[in-house]
Amino acid sequence: MIDLHTHSTASDGTLSPEALVELAAKRGLTAIALTDHETVTGIVSAQERGKDLGVEVVPAVEIGASLDKAGEVHLLGYFINTRDEFLLDCLKWLREERRSRGRKIVERLRELGALITFEQVEKISQGESLGRPHIAQALVDNGQATSIKQSFEIYLKSTGPANIKREQLEAGEAISLIRRAGGIAVLAHPCTLGGQSDELPRVIELLMKLGLAGIEVFYSQHNTKQVAYYKKLATAFGLLMTAGSDFHGSNKPDIKMGQGIQRAPAEILPKLREAANSRSAAHTS
Ligand code: AMP
Ligand code: FE
Ligand code: FE
Ligand code: ZN
Repeated sequence: MIDLHTHSTASDGTLSPEALVELAAKRGLTAIALTDHETVTGIVSAQERGKDLGVEVVPAVEIGASLDKAGEVHLLGYFINTRDEFLLDCLKWLREERRSRGRKIVERLRELGALITFEQVEKISQGESLGRPHIAQALVDNGQATSIKQSFEIYLKSTGPANIKREQLEAGEAISLIRRAGGIAVLAHPCTLGGQSDELPRVIELLMKLGLAGIEVFYSQHNTKQVAYYKKLATAFGLLMTAGSDFHGSNKPDIKMGQGIQRAPAEILPKLREAANSRSAAHTS
């Protein structure tokens, strides 16, 4: 079994990259992809631990982007070159945007009367990719909410009083960035897309014109009906299918590593690899 969507402490997961791989080995997984938000810093240490334990770690990233038709879309980039200078520069800029947005959210929270400081949030985020879950954790630590989930409910969800949008790439820019770094661009958790569900085929068509190559069919939050529907779309559009849980450790206690992907076919990773290899062959020729 494989899990191609996991987060570590490099972004908003609670396990270090090494501990993530140790858990994967314990659960009998043969491969995981580390898909931290807007950072690749965890990948080398995860891969090193993976070598010891016989777990393949696919180099990957998750990038949040905007798309007129759907609001926010999350794009997964698989088999990216994690030393690509342009990729690293862009991710660095995106993380700086995350920090400045985090600062603004904390200011807003303080105006709303919540007890919190940015220094505290920084400490929780350990200086890498700062996100709302870190702010949510600080609120819990200060007794302003009973759980991360409740922090989102009261303050941080997209319609909440302390949510502030961050500067993002356009979907086309994010896909190009992934492709330039030799990666395969995949639409993450299609279930979270805004708008009518009957708009999804049009959103996919649009994203494919921009270079999208796959869709996350198997996902911890997809029910049987959704899996069947996304599978049908993948087949109709000739998209690769991927499988991932979106494991975040105790930041999302309801999601277990490997969840929701038991029925994923075995050829998912070979096909993804093949697509990545033929891209890099095209690049060097
Ligand atoms: P950010 O990347 O800073 O915009 O924060 C988004 C992250 O917060 C997502 O990747 C999830 O990990 C988490 N998240 C979003 N909504 C919720 C929620 N309602 N409850 C718990 N975690 C959430
Ligand atoms: Fe996350
Ligand atoms: Fe996501
Ligand atoms: Zn994710």
